[in-house]
Amino acid sequence: MRPKEREFLSIWLLLLALGLFGVSALAVRRMDVRGLPENVSRELTAQEQAEIIARNSPLTEYVRLSPNVTFPREDAVKKITVHHMADDISLERLGEVFAEEDRRASANYAIDIEGRVALYAEECNRAWTSSSPENDHQAVTIEVANDEIGGDWHVGDASYATLVELCTDICQRNGIEQLVYTGDELGNLTIHKMFNEETECPGPYLEGKMPELAREVNQRLAEMAGNKGGGGGG
Ligand SMILES: [Zn+2]
Repeated sequence: MRPKEREFLSIWLLLLALGLFGVSALAVRRMDVRGLPENVSRELTAQEQAEIIARNSPLTEYVRLSPNVTFPREDAVKKITVHHMADDISLERLGEVFAEEDRRASANYAIDIEGRVALYAEECNRAWTSSSPENDHQAVTIEVANDEIGGDWHVGDASYATLVELCTDICQRNGIEQLVYTGDELGNLTIHKMFNEETECPGPYLEGKMPELAREVNQRLAEMAGNKGGGGGG
């Protein structure tokens, strides 16, 4: 080949290589998008929400699924991890926040200051909540709204009462016989700060309630097991 022809050939080869790179990059991007279920990020109809609630906690009143989730989780549900919102925003607003992909955050459930429950990641999937993939692959994570911003990050009685109910329901449906709070990550009731030194989440108030939460949930689980096995009688 003459030098001029060689130059043309190398330009064409370069263009071809760039084209192939572009096509494969697009294909990878397309696969990413396709890898997400079609029902994430967007608002859902009442019918769609009802179908999703049927697979999760019946206490749920609002569903908006986050894309910031690993589908499906890699482990069975064995734990519950409690967080606080560090805010008192509505379930709908939190749904908008978790719907943004660049937030890289989500939770399975949240409870607002009135004690209403929302679902953002189905229980069969791993929410990105606790700074620990290992924990979150095994845990259902719950964000609880604060009625005091700062200080002890207090949580209202209505929210706490729902937390007891929701934890009981999660344990019952997932075959968790009892909740054990050890104050470290060895128990199956965990809190965010066990996995991240930079957070105080779920705040002093909720952290102080953890032994009581485990006790109340276990009492309810024992009562339910007794009712099932005892066949009445007292
Ligand atoms: Zn947290």
